[in-house]
Amino acid sequence: MGRVAQLRCRACGTPHPVGPEYVCERCFGPLEVEYEASSLREATRERIASGPRSIWRYRSLLPAEPQDDDLQPGFTPLVPAPRLGERLGLRRLYLKNDTTNPTWSFKDRVVAVAVAAARAFGFRVLACASTGNLANAVAAHAARAGLRAVVFVPQGLEAGKVLTTSVYEPTVVEVEGTYDDVNRLCTEIAGEHPWAFANINLRPFYSEGCKTLAFEVAEQLGWRLPDHVVIPVASGNLFVKTEKAFAELLGLGLVEGKTPRLHGAQPAGCAPIAAAHRRGDGQVTPVRPQTVAKSLAIGNPADGYYALQTVRRTGGVFEVATDEEIVEGMKLLAQTEGIFGETAAGVTVAVLRKLAEAGVFGADEVVVALITGAGLKTLEAVARGGRPAIRIRPTLKDFEGQVLAAV
Ligand SMILES: *Cc1c(COP(=O)(O)O)cnc(C)c1O
Ligand SMILES: [Zn+2]
Repeated sequence: MGRVAQLRCRACGTPHPVGPEYVCERCFGPLEVEYEASSLREATRERIASGPRSIWRYRSLLPAEPQDDDLQPGFTPLVPAPRLGERLGLRRLYLKNDTTNPTWSFKDRVVAVAVAAARAFGFRVLACASTGNLANAVAAHAARAGLRAVVFVPQGLEAGKVLTTSVYEPTVVEVEGTYDDVNRLCTEIAGEHPWAFANINLRPFYSEGCKTLAFEVAEQLGWRLPDHVVIPVASGNLFVKTEKAFAELLGLGLVEGKTPRLHGAQPAGCAPIAAAHRRGDGQVTPVRPQTVAKSLAIGNPADGYYALQTVRRTGGVFEVATDEEIVEGMKLLAQTEGIFGETAAGVTVAVLRKLAEAGVFGADEVVVALITGAGLKTLEAVARGGRPAIRIRPTLKDFEGQVLAAV
């Protein structure tokens, strides 16, 4: 692992040798990768621009060797959103469209890095505890890499998530319980069996893949930072690593200015970090999830404590969306900008709207909303609108009588 000098505890700073480890032996804090200075120095705008159109263009800021035979996730479109912006009173709104990834969510980014690390450590089995999208990505990337995949999911997942995962033929294990039960079980398994759990024993590597979203946003804005980013939050991993990514770009002199204000979006039925931020006591109290946004249904978020620090440090806010608002958010996004996002996108757009109404954004500030997953996997949420509005016989008369009148 040439690029990674060592692992270091985020809480107490104790260094650890590079390996498939994720907790500090001294204080049980989470481990982070620490890069060789020579690798970081390689990160110039020119080198990045000449790299592949995937996450691997940021190779010197990632903790694994680039894989040129993988599914090449990342480098997804950053599109201006003038019609949604007009509705919300924002002149410079952009959407980062991660629905175009190989398995239609941002999880392809983290899994690609996890697979590269799993290969380097010599693992044969790639596993995960998932709320759906991670299982989907693990199954696909493992198939591509010739690894065996075993994915653990909570009961009651959307049919679309199970189907789009099963097609790659991993072993899909439905666990009776919530995601938090699944995660606890997988943590026990990872301690006993030599499997690579993408988001458990490979978490220090996996989580770094999140940074590529922020890297792309800055590069696609012409190496400028936005003023605000609205981010859907489950475990808090993407949220925390977005701050780290912008800090790295600033530290390396690849961009100027200051870290954007990072705003967290959670479903009202599972908002432990938003609640803790509101209380202001710095403690995340686990909740039992009850929300249509199953991809964000983590009641005991691994990075919750650090997410609270990120939101405070960057001057962001946390806001929540009810199930009804989530569905409205999905429809608003589709109807104004032609992007069919999943329930997590509905959370993001609903929160974006609330923050705009609350006056959090200046009219000329650059606002980026992260659209992290595709709507075809969560059809249940919008199923009631799924019927043709008009049915006619194949005649011009019916067309003129019934269709023209309705357009
Ligand atoms: C996993 C996921 C997130 C955020 O996950 P974190 O655990 O907070 O990093 C956001 N959106 C979608 C669609 C996801 O699948
Ligand atoms: Zn420690």
